[in-house]
Amino acid sequence: MGDPENGPTPVVERRAFVPKEPYPLIIDGRAVETEACFEAIEPSTGRRWAEVAQAGAAEVDAAVQAATRAFASWRYSSPVERQAVLGAVADLIEREAGSWDLLLPTENGRPVREAGMFDVATAANIFRYFAGLVRGLGGEQIATGDRDSHVYTVREPLGVIAALTPWNSPLITLANKLAPALAAGNTVVVKPSELASPSAVTLVRALGDLLPPGVVNVVTGYGPEVGAALVAHPGIAKVTFTGGTETGRRVLAATAANLTPALMELGGKSAFLICQDADLDAAVTDALTGAFAANGEACFASSRLLVHEDIAEEFLERLTGVVSRIQVGDALDRGTQIGPVISGAHRDRILGLVRRGETEGAEVVAGGDAVRLDGELSGGSYLAPTVLLDPAGRSTVSSEELFGPVVVVQTWREEAEAVARANGGRYGLAAGVWTRDLGRAHRVARDLDAGIVWVNTWFETPMGQPLGGFKDSGFGRETSAETLREYSGTKVVNARLTTERMSLFG
Ligand code: NAD
Repeated sequence: MGDPENGPTPVVERRAFVPKEPYPLIIDGRAVETEACFEAIEPSTGRRWAEVAQAGAAEVDAAVQAATRAFASWRYSSPVERQAVLGAVADLIEREAGSWDLLLPTENGRPVREAGMFDVATAANIFRYFAGLVRGLGGEQIATGDRDSHVYTVREPLGVIAALTPWNSPLITLANKLAPALAAGNTVVVKPSELASPSAVTLVRALGDLLPPGVVNVVTGYGPEVGAALVAHPGIAKVTFTGGTETGRRVLAATAANLTPALMELGGKSAFLICQDADLDAAVTDALTGAFAANGEACFASSRLLVHEDIAEEFLERLTGVVSRIQVGDALDRGTQIGPVISGAHRDRILGLVRRGETEGAEVVAGGDAVRLDGELSGGSYLAPTVLLDPAGRSTVSSEELFGPVVVVQTWREEAEAVARANGGRYGLAAGVWTRDLGRAHRVARDLDAGIVWVNTWFETPMGQPLGGFKDSGFGRETSAETLREYSGTKVVNARLTTERMSLFG
């Protein structure tokens, strides 16, 4: 295509991230190459863009051993040292912002404008938040009423933490685990998703300049092999997992043998209730952000919009008006609003569920198909942003997590019905309510079964706000002061200050 006045449009070369070498494992502060490697595929093109080391059981064991040795001294590192390290990690992430901007969209297809706006800043912010908290980590004195008794608690690190992360926000989910685990004095073995490993290897490798060897290690490979070997390892003190609910069940089954505790951040199908008195402009804007940010591949995606019948027609018209103009394209293009989903297989799974929804009575009112792009992008896994109307919410698309740019609109008449519908599914990660009525806002917030309820907003996640789910969305809380308790145990010390005794036995 060309412009008749200015001649042909110049061809802009794609600037995908080009790694210098295969991504190795990082064990005991050293880069470890393996004979077997697997391919990292770029979602925008469907092509191989990197090679990643494939760990086996021996490398998993070596990583746990290294972390165990490092724990012996890192557990006694001072809060001052930990604070300095966590602050330095935040600086390091920010300093490398330019290369993350290129790496993250290449790796998982998240649009570059969002990677720059959210992922890098949020990851740095998480490390900075825990750098602030670390100096306050401690126990308390217990008031017994007995002046010759001194009872106090101390918070102790747990040991080696196995951190398993998903592909959808790889830098943020890794920061959510590393920052509190290190702040509390633990050492870590990371197992990133096989679909987004390079960012994790890059970060852990860079930490080598800031931390003693073995404090953070990374083993890459497939979940059912490397992930399974790691979570079943008897040297693991706690598993911290973010991923799908079914994988979470498998992980918990494996950890049961060693009684290894776990923190579980799992899937969601979050409901967004829009009442008849809502500010419609704000609600539509929030619904679009909630459903389509990060390609809709976000655990907190507002994938169910429950709209009051009186405003449903207008709401749907405004929503689909914007959806039909959303730019789908190369994740590396700054004009792209929705990039490719993570893989062709994931796109086909989503489309299969959309087709199934149609046979079950849901109607596609926008999108509903794959998007084919030309040239280098022809192998990319693109999907048109999709809106389905399923008024009574009975089809599978209304209950199953699709994890892509697809949103389902349902309608309701009575507040109690809307709340019951929102609570009806198996998940309990997030929910929201849009209303100008203060009483209704807090009544509905009280009654929604979700770990986080947003009122007249969506996706706001300031540090300090505990994040995590109820029901099949998991347990444990991240990004808050209580998160340090997830990564430390309570020891009580009970001391008698005199030798006087009341003797029971003479
Ligand atoms: P996934 O469950 O497929 O994989 C998560 C991790 O588990 C990966 O590292 C994977 O390799 C590993 N794994 C897979 N099988 C394993 C096994 N048998 N034993 C041990 N480890 C194994 O999840 P995904 O597809 O990467 O991520 C998407 C899911 O993550 C969605 O369901 C999403 O809702 C969820 N998620 C939740 C949150 C949250 O905070 N609640 C945040 C982000 C993503």
